[in-house]
This record gives sequence, C-alpha cells and structure tokens, in this order.
Amino acid sequence: MADKPIAAALQDVLSRMKQATERANRTHPVRLVAVSKTKPAEALQEAYDAGQRVFGENYVQEMLDKAPALPGDVQWHFIGHLQSNKVKAVLEGVPNLAMVETVDSAKLADKLNKTLETVSGRTAPLAVMVQVNTSGEESKYGVEPTECVSLAKHIAQNCPKLRLAGLMTIGMPDYSSRPECFICLSGCRDAVATELGLRPEQLELSMGMSGDFEQAIEMGSTNIRVGSTIFGAREYKPKSPPASPKKE
Ligand SMILES: *Cc1c(COP(=O)(O)O)cnc(C)c1O
Repeated sequence: MADKPIAAALQDVLSRMKQATERANRTHPVRLVAVSKTKPAEALQEAYDAGQRVFGENYVQEMLDKAPALPGDVQWHFIGHLQSNKVKAVLEGVPNLAMVETVDSAKLADKLNKTLETVSGRTAPLAVMVQVNTSGEESKYGVEPTECVSLAKHIAQNCPKLRLAGLMTIGMPDYSSRPECFICLSGCRDAVATELGLRPEQLELSMGMSGDFEQAIEMGSTNIRVGSTIFGAREYKPKSPPASPKKE
C-alpha cells in the first residue's frame, strides 16, 4: 500500500476508531470526518476511492473549489468560522453540504435558516452543530458553555430549515484537546438535551482530532475530525479570506 499512503493511513485510523469504540463498549458507529483543508482534490479522491465519503473543510473558498471536483455523494462538513456574507455562496455552491458544525451565534443560525428558504434543491433541513468554546481561549470561536443552551434552543425553536444535530468543540488552539474540554462539551450536551426534552444520545458530540480521537471516542464522541493523520502534515496555511468591508 506504500504507493497509496492516504488509503493506508485512512485504514489505520478506521481500525484505531474501531478499537476505541470497542474499548468503550459502544455499539453506535462513530463518524469520521476526513479534514482535507489545504490538500488538493487528488488527495481527497484517493481517500474517496478507499471508501471515505465525509470530508471537512474550514474555508468556504476551498470547499467551493473542491466540491465540484469530487463525486456528488460526498458529504461535506463545514468546520471553520462561517461568515454571514459567505452563507449564500456555500449553500448554493455546495448542494451536498451535509453539515455546518460551527454555528456560534443566533445571527448565523438565522442567516442560514433564511438563506435556505431561497435555495432550491434542498428538501431535508440542514444539519448544524453548536460550536462551544470549551478551552476558554479568547481566540477561539464558539459560544461560552453557559450560552450553549440558549443558542441550541433558538435553533430548535426558530430555525425550521435547520436540524440541531449536536455540539462541537475544537479544544485547545494548537488543535490538541484536553479531557476537560471533552467533559465540558458532554456536560453542555446533557444540559441542551434536558432543556429540549431529548435523550442525550439524540444529540451528537463532535470532538477529537488527530492527536486525541481515540480518547474522544472513549469519552463519547460520535463525530471525529481527523486531518493530518490521514493526509499528512499541512505544509502551508491557506491565506485567510479577504477581509470583508462589513463588520461581522
Ligand atoms: C484542522 C482541523 C481539524 C483536524 O486537525 P488534525 O490535527 O490535522 O487532525 C479538526 N477540526 C478542525 C475544526 C480543524 O480546523
């Protein structure tokens, strides 16, 4: 498999996921989001050919560029900070956008909801997660843990075009996570479930990345986001999107 390094790495991640799931005595399968930011479409295609269907990008422009280059049954997850003025572009340009994991304000939820009313071809509501800042770092996007219930409630009650799928966190700014962050997110999920009259298992937890996905699975993650372990180290950072004249 040496000539197919991405396929080999993907298989390795899948088997480590399976083992972690078994160690945790969990029966429900965990979803792997292959985080392909900065990687060319050919790299994603190699993972696709090896069976991977869910891909995560955190820049709108990269997703707009890659989505048409990949088969239509890919499920795209948006995992970056989504600016309101990019919502229309991503919803129209990526018909197979399956989830926005990073809703961090009622304003963004409303914008998604309202824009979806005008986008043709979508029947099911768009799955979204509430992003929670569990590390307390000011530089991180996401609502404070104390604000997650009100945002989740807003989405559930006022945004019929959205389906609240669960909660997401990044952890520490260097992309490493800590058990405290996972415990915090799990507590947020329980609080949201109570408020909305759901069982906790009805809400997903998106947590765990290359360095800690096994631990995250053992702590209840249902959606892990793994980039460098599958695609190799990211050599460069994409340029930040051009500053918008309007303030967010
Ligand atoms: C880049 C990124 C990841 C993947 O990080 P790796 O450490 O490369 O696995 C996961 N989640 C988010 C939000 C990211 O931006």
